[in-house]
Amino acid sequence: MDELTWAKNLAKTELHAHINGSIGMPDLRKLADLKGVHLPAEIALPGSAGFSLDDVFALFSKTIYSVVRDAQALQFVVEHVVAAFKRDGVRYLELRSTPKSLEGMDMDGYVSTVVSAISKAMSENETIRVKFLLSVDRRHDPETASTIVSLAIKYANLFPSIVVGVDVCGNPACGGIKHLVPSLSRLKLDAPTLKLVIHFAEIETPPEEDELLTILSLNPDRLGHCTFVPDHIMATMRARKIPIEICLSSNVVGGTVNSFEAHHLKQLWDSGYPRECLILCTDDVGIFCSDLSNEYVIARRVLGVSREVMEEWAQLVCDKYAR
Ligand SMILES: [Zn+2]
Repeated sequence: MDELTWAKNLAKTELHAHINGSIGMPDLRKLADLKGVHLPAEIALPGSAGFSLDDVFALFSKTIYSVVRDAQALQFVVEHVVAAFKRDGVRYLELRSTPKSLEGMDMDGYVSTVVSAISKAMSENETIRVKFLLSVDRRHDPETASTIVSLAIKYANLFPSIVVGVDVCGNPACGGIKHLVPSLSRLKLDAPTLKLVIHFAEIETPPEEDELLTILSLNPDRLGHCTFVPDHIMATMRARKIPIEICLSSNVVGGTVNSFEAHHLKQLWDSGYPRECLILCTDDVGIFCSDLSNEYVIARRVLGVSREVMEEWAQLVCDKYAR
């Protein structure tokens, strides 16, 4: 059996997937046609010369959000994203997205639309279970962050089988997260069963002094990326067995890591970081064009391990996180 077929047949768990970044470009163009939105014939995608992490955020703000402007478009995206993950053999999927006001809807309507689209998609795809994390962008002001935390609590009460937590995302070059601490602390106090997951150490120089310690003080349930973590902080993470969402292609194609061989997954694996705390994820499969099966293929090559080891690892992750 070839590598990709083997990886597709694995029962996989995806925990770090942004809804709008997970829509494939052909589906996005189809949606643009439906909505009468003109997209440029050429869109800078990974692989273009000089493509960087800033270009990833520009793709969201200038291209994807120009198409996903109303409830119908959002629903289209969620349904197509869930179907694509199912085709890739993902059995358990946590999607994340930042609630925003779109045409004819406020942030509450955004969350309601995503939840109903997930519910519909699951009823049509019975082999996949899908959950939702509401994202706070680090550029949000404290009031907006507080509104999103309140929405997470509200919808987790209404739809506990779908809404499972809050994520902190956004371009790390745009500033720190200290102003978000009161809202995120309130989440932990008011809704301790909800997960708090945070993008962590994505760039070499944190935007705020002690940013990483501030984040760890919030007792996050998982951390995303963890590319530039100093040794003493990694030692704390290991002692606390904090799960890390590993996004190989996102980091390499986004330009924060030079090559797959140089990716910190190998170091973490060899250092004995608990394997069930290392989770392969896609981040934005629509942008980086590498589905979760392909991430497993890359990881096996980089780690130099057998298929049996990878299968045991996938099962460990599934046992620990699939709820
Ligand atoms: Zn991400």
